[in-house]
Amino acid sequence: MTGTAPRGHAPHPFFTVGAHGLLVAGQTLSELAARVGRTPFYAYERAAIDARIRAVRAALPREVHLHYAIKANPLPEVVKHIAGQVDGLDVASVAELRIALAAGAPVQEVSFAGPGKTDLELEEAARAGILINVESERELNVLSRLAPRLPGKPRVAIRVNPDFELKTSGMKMGGGPKPFGIDAERVPETLAMLARMPLQFEGFHIFSGSQNLQAAAIAEAQRNAVALAARLASAAPAPVRVLNLGGGFGIPYFPGEVPLDLAEVAAGMRELVAQRPPALRDSQYTVELGRYLIGEAGIYVCRVIDRKISRGQVFLVTDGGLHHHLAASGNFGQVLRKNYPVVIGTRPADSATEVASVVGPLCTPLDLLADRAVLSRAEPGDLAVVLQSGAYGRSASPLGFLSHPAPTEILV
Ligand SMILES: *Cc1c(COP(=O)(O)O)cnc(C)c1O
Repeated sequence: MTGTAPRGHAPHPFFTVGAHGLLVAGQTLSELAARVGRTPFYAYERAAIDARIRAVRAALPREVHLHYAIKANPLPEVVKHIAGQVDGLDVASVAELRIALAAGAPVQEVSFAGPGKTDLELEEAARAGILINVESERELNVLSRLAPRLPGKPRVAIRVNPDFELKTSGMKMGGGPKPFGIDAERVPETLAMLARMPLQFEGFHIFSGSQNLQAAAIAEAQRNAVALAARLASAAPAPVRVLNLGGGFGIPYFPGEVPLDLAEVAAGMRELVAQRPPALRDSQYTVELGRYLIGEAGIYVCRVIDRKISRGQVFLVTDGGLHHHLAASGNFGQVLRKNYPVVIGTRPADSATEVASVVGPLCTPLDLLADRAVLSRAEPGDLAVVLQSGAYGRSASPLGFLSHPAPTEILV
């Protein structure tokens, strides 16, 4: 598929700008906007989600289970759509747990990670019978205390804070001092404690970082995770039934970034499966992907309200902004602000361009969706579109800031 490519950005795998502007699920953006009825909105395309899941399934060895990490996009319709095509779901809160169960995910294949789980959250998760990735000894103690009142033994895996770091990851989640998981060197002691508790040990969760575009770095982190799990297995009170290798497959956001080489990641995983250490012979290897499954399938759409020229610079002032899409504004983990791919979705591909900045209605200079980007010339009424917006969009944004209405969402 040939996609649209805002200047300097990788061609988009799913969305094209044609003679009538951006096409979304076979309709023009104007048609879609009329159907939605108001701006701003997020739209997620079923066909794009399905194509991505098919590609991941086709590439990864069949022995590896594919989970969806709900926090990337917790819209219940999206979760339900994805649940039918993956092996399981991973949740990071009780609300996400309820969404996962409502989507019909098998309890055996739902897991719950995240630091700071409250006693009530742990109880609800244990009662549901899902796998709890424990992040501290306190969580084990709480579950152990609850266990006698529960119908079955709580199922637990240890989330390990590895003794290695993921190279070149956008957001590091492991290695060094971290609030996530239990330090690898302390895990043998933790396992000895767990062995005396009325809990069912099921395995390990080792996740080193999000938004990685380097296949070689992901493969190396996964190799390290398997080696670490094999070492820790000798101290475990039961066989390692699951080894969760986390998510972290990245997508290109910024000028110059190149899409992840999925084939190379898959080749690494085939090697891992072929060369299992004896301690992990019967372990179910799992990856839990968030961003990679949904990130490129979503767009954020806002309407140009005003066109202003300030000292020669064009500003397109829209009804959307950082309160809806913090990540695109550059304030969700970026070190140096760079533009997400942005297009004017109501203008044909061959329309005249200009350099313009796309801003929102908030009273802060941070409310910037595109900083001096090459865009089709737009007027009030046109629709500005941020691509790569399916993951960590609406749910990762400060919706309450300035009390504007929240954006709607639609699965098309
Ligand atoms: C956020 C998260 C994921 C998903 O990460 P992506 O980078 O979106 O693939 C997976 N597992 C855990 C524990 C997470 O916190």
